[in-house]
Amino acid sequence: MNLKDLFNKYDIDQWGICPFNNIKNNLIKCRAITKLPENSKSIIVCLFPYLLPEYTERNLSRYACVKDYHIIALNILSDICNALINNFPENKFVCFTDNSPIPEVKAAAYANLGVIGRHGLLINKQYGSWVFIGEIVTDLYIPAEQINLQYCINCGQCQEYCPGNAIGNHFDKSCCVSFITQKKGELNNIETKKIINSGLIWGCDKCQEICPMNKNIKIKPYPLFLNNPQFLYYPDINYNDDISDRAFNWRGKNILKRNFDIINK
Ligand code: SF4
Ligand code: SF4
Repeated sequence: MNLKDLFNKYDIDQWGICPFNNIKNNLIKCRAITKLPENSKSIIVCLFPYLLPEYTERNLSRYACVKDYHIIALNILSDICNALINNFPENKFVCFTDNSPIPEVKAAAYANLGVIGRHGLLINKQYGSWVFIGEIVTDLYIPAEQINLQYCINCGQCQEYCPGNAIGNHFDKSCCVSFITQKKGELNNIETKKIINSGLIWGCDKCQEICPMNKNIKIKPYPLFLNNPQFLYYPDINYNDDISDRAFNWRGKNILKRNFDIINK
């Protein structure tokens, strides 16, 4: 079976193989770890670009403007897994995205899909950092190039412009505005000010917007993100939008309302 044809069929043009051995000592200890095939040998990593061609007024981070990538990517990857199982019935194929025991950015970099940015995201040559990562782990051995991890040009601009001061020698999640917008409960004054300054009620794109490695990239969102309604602005909790297919649904409307009220006080 030709993997290139299979991925072409699903409009995925950025994919690669990370040998499982490369990340076996960096697995994330989460519940999903039990789903990994025994004797995993290869990780097929693929990217779903999501940068939309243009944006009007919005108060959501770009990744939240499109349909929940967990739904889209997992559906596609499940179909691909089924095709692989038909061709390799002796082998196991398990797909993940985000909620994954695989350190996805590292695996994508080992799969030759980009470099690791100082902000911790993958930066792909074609689509920059505006990509979601999904992967299929298998006990099938698939030959792969041996790649050394590559890093960004380290210009420091993401650190300089980060409104949360979250980027230093290490990424401090608790300071990141994106993390704060998702935090439950009462926020302190510093956190509240960070949300006001960001102007967004969910997420933060500043480190990606400022990154010079995100200039001159291809804007070609994964087709299913275009085929589904975009959702740029979340106006009010009383507004009766169905958010069940949105990436912020897991946190619920109350958090969005809290952030909306903070910004519009
Ligand atoms: S998402 Fe925003 S707050 Fe978080 S690291 Fe990037 S620029 Fe800083
Ligand atoms: S802004 Fe500069 S330091 Fe930050 S990720 Fe981009 S290239 Fe790296």
